[in-house]
Amino acid sequence: MTTTKERYERAARELADACTQAGRSADEVTLVAVSKTVGPEDVALAIEGGARDFGENRPDQLVAKADQFTDVNWHFIGNIQSRRIRDIVGRATLIHSLFEERHARKIDEIAREHGIVQDVLLEVNVSGEQSKSGRTPEDVRELLEVCRALPNIRVRGLMTMAPQGDAEVARETFVGLRGLRDSLRAALPEDEAAYFTELSMGMSEDWPEAVAEGATIVRIGRAIFSPTF
Ligand SMILES: *Cc1c(COP(=O)(O)O)cnc(C)c1O
Repeated sequence: MTTTKERYERAARELADACTQAGRSADEVTLVAVSKTVGPEDVALAIEGGARDFGENRPDQLVAKADQFTDVNWHFIGNIQSRRIRDIVGRATLIHSLFEERHARKIDEIAREHGIVQDVLLEVNVSGEQSKSGRTPEDVRELLEVCRALPNIRVRGLMTMAPQGDAEVARETFVGLRGLRDSLRAALPEDEAAYFTELSMGMSEDWPEAVAEGATIVRIGRAIFSPTF
């Protein structure tokens, strides 16, 4: 059986190979190790394997792990609840899952109290699946405009989750997110376009397609932390 350290190293190697195959440089894609199902022991093992970015989808887990492992980056990738925003802002290097205007305003307000600018991604439901959260592609521009007026939020790009089980459908989803980023970006002033670059897309089952279609961040959980994946 492989260890978490070995599985992290393998994932990083496979990601670097996929980048090369896609004609991209390996440092263009950040590997976020999604540690939501494991405890601090496995986080420590992944760090030994070279992990520097971790993702959590629950505020309590983010707080516990980010406060224990302070030398790595913590990404918040889960459902945002108003009363937990205070736990997330500042701890998360990047919040991937913003899609409601009221949450944007609250993040901005708390970031202002802390004297920081919080980096966020806007989550888009590209596939239209009922079970997925996120803005519809048609509605993203409106939220981006709201965020642009909030001085303590900086929108770095977009995030999506593809339907599982069909690589072609996943690929179309990723192509859709990239097209949306490109068109939104083209309408931004140059200084804002310079940082509206990120595409957080691809998980254990579909990250190769995402890398081929331009992902700048992949979020990999089971392929790293599940011995049976
Ligand atoms: C759990 C989760 C992941 C990782 O999924 P795996 O299939 O385990 O790689 C990625 N993104 C989000 C938003 C998640 O909740």
